[in-house]
Amino acid sequence: MAPPGLVGVLTVADPDICQRCAQGGPTCCCLEPGAEQGCFPLAPAERDRILGVLSGAAGAFAREANSPAFVENMKALFPGEEELVAELFPEGGFHLRLAVDAAGRCRLLGPQGCVLPREARPHYCRLFPLWPVGRTVMAFAAERCLAWREGRSLRRMLALLQTTEKNVKELHGRLRLAWGLPPERGLPAPPAPPRKKT
Ligand code: SF4
Ligand code: SF4
Repeated sequence: MAPPGLVGVLTVADPDICQRCAQGGPTCCCLEPGAEQGCFPLAPAERDRILGVLSGAAGAFAREANSPAFVENMKALFPGEEELVAELFPEGGFHLRLAVDAAGRCRLLGPQGCVLPREARPHYCRLFPLWPVGRTVMAFAAERCLAWREGRSLRRMLALLQTTEKNVKELHGRLRLAWGLPPERGLPAPPAPPRKKT
């Protein structure tokens, strides 16, 4: 029998795909141990949203230095906006990220997948493995991603993950705002939020 996401040549939404992925092994919620500095940043608003639904999640966050490798990764995510990224994440400064255990698993990852309701997850978690590039949306070729392995094309992955290019772009705009960039490249940057101690 075909997996739930695949029916003939048609691909249908699979609300359980990330849960099935978590049951099968490492997911996008796991890092290689030692690769924490490459983890995406977590905006204070994203942390607060998580704490709003899971008040016991205080141990799920970590403070990480803005290492040169982290800053370079961030610049690569936003080509043409390197100067602003360098201002937002200055080398020598710090950012918040999700904490992981000794095996590199996000502390919010349970046996059935993320313990958070989807709307409370960080924007980056909700976007992966999709990312807008110019006017289109690209999929990371991530072999550990079940949506990638079963979808293999942008159209099928969007369907499996129950999203659309429009949704991906809107979510990306919200991620940009949360991280301090304007919602679209070229617009004025939002005012910097007051920094909380982490
Ligand atoms: S917050 Fe949830 S979706 Fe994001 S990395 Fe952690 S377990 Fe995965
Ligand atoms: S987005 Fe991909 S890698 Fe992440 S949990 Fe879902 S299927 Fe797995």
